[in-house]
Amino acid sequence: MMTGRGYHTAEHIMIRPVRTSPLTLQIKFCAMLFRRAVVWYHRPMTDHKHKMSDFAGFDTDALLSWYDQHARHLPWRAFSPERAPAYHVFLSELMLQQTVVATVIPYFQAFLRRWPDIQALAAADEDEILKAWAGLGYYARARNMLKAARAVCEEYNGRFPERADQLIKLPGIGPYTAGAIAAIAFDQPAVVLDGNIERVLIRFAAIDRPKKQVKDRLAQGYSSVLPRMRLSDFPQAVMDLGATVCTPKQARCDLCPLAKGCAGRHLPEPAVLPVKPVKSAKPVRQGKVLLITNQDQQVVMMQRPPSGLLGGMLGFPSSGWDKTAIDQTLAAALADKPLLDLPDQLKHTFTHFTAELQISLVQIDENWSVPAGYFWAEICPDDWPSLFKKAWQLAAASKGFSD
Ligand code: SF4
Repeated sequence: MMTGRGYHTAEHIMIRPVRTSPLTLQIKFCAMLFRRAVVWYHRPMTDHKHKMSDFAGFDTDALLSWYDQHARHLPWRAFSPERAPAYHVFLSELMLQQTVVATVIPYFQAFLRRWPDIQALAAADEDEILKAWAGLGYYARARNMLKAARAVCEEYNGRFPERADQLIKLPGIGPYTAGAIAAIAFDQPAVVLDGNIERVLIRFAAIDRPKKQVKDRLAQGYSSVLPRMRLSDFPQAVMDLGATVCTPKQARCDLCPLAKGCAGRHLPEPAVLPVKPVKSAKPVRQGKVLLITNQDQQVVMMQRPPSGLLGGMLGFPSSGWDKTAIDQTLAAALADKPLLDLPDQLKHTFTHFTAELQISLVQIDENWSVPAGYFWAEICPDDWPSLFKKAWQLAAASKGFSD
């Protein structure tokens, strides 16, 4: 029977039984299982339904495809399926803390030429390491690097442990460096949060709170978007995106592989994120630096105490900035010598304070004997910590010094 609109009513539809053989059913069942297994294998590390909603639209595949085309070629890098040796990741990550890539590259190459593996580094003298490190700043990193190299040789027979929870027990290795070595060198699902990665995640989820307040949320978000494979490439891909596309000053969303799911992209100005914490002014420490020179183009130096600021490094006699006073014996030996104060002060910024230093010049004749603890050194500013190199350069540019 036809309805008024010409459609068949349900009771007139002929239902024909479909006969399927047991073999066909088995094949279909196996195919279905196989498809599910493929989907499961390529799933993100956290199931989608449990993925943090902030990061639900994070397109890891698009990011890795972008990385294949646009990765930065850096001397410590290797590309999938290769992985960089743990020693290279270790060296580069320690050098990159607080230091830009362009500055680190020649230091990394020089270290690798001189100490090509962890055993060679572990056998080096601290003095040699500190000298080679001069100019990179934050010298505690160099001393910790040596301690960590020795620990790897003594406790792990010269092979880096693979997991972040083992790496973090090495001297000077914090959560970031441990995660970076575990992920980049050993393809582990470790959390790696550096400044670039944090910025990308914060903008992606449009998180409008300072970084320090959302560390856990970022770590969970990062874990939720980890791919099943290419765990070594993943953090490097996010880092490169942060360094070249989603940069501190600019978000170039039109070039970004994450644009589709990114909440920050819809803000009038995504680059206002991350929210900057209110900064308190750095305290200022006043001090003095003495440049004592002779006719033979030499200058009086000392080896600084092994611990504390610029520990173990060469330095000029100085006071105040490191909460020490000029040595009494040295002060007495200079009592009858004329001091010339430079008109300009030297400003040098440390992590927690700014040093404002008065530089005084003293020219000495050959009859003066150097007090114990000091020595005449050749003029090699490139071997000195930045503070003393700058002090020397300021003095060398002054009129009184060349007269
Ligand atoms: S879409 Fe824009 S804001 Fe979002 S991650 Fe990419 S560059 Fe950054």
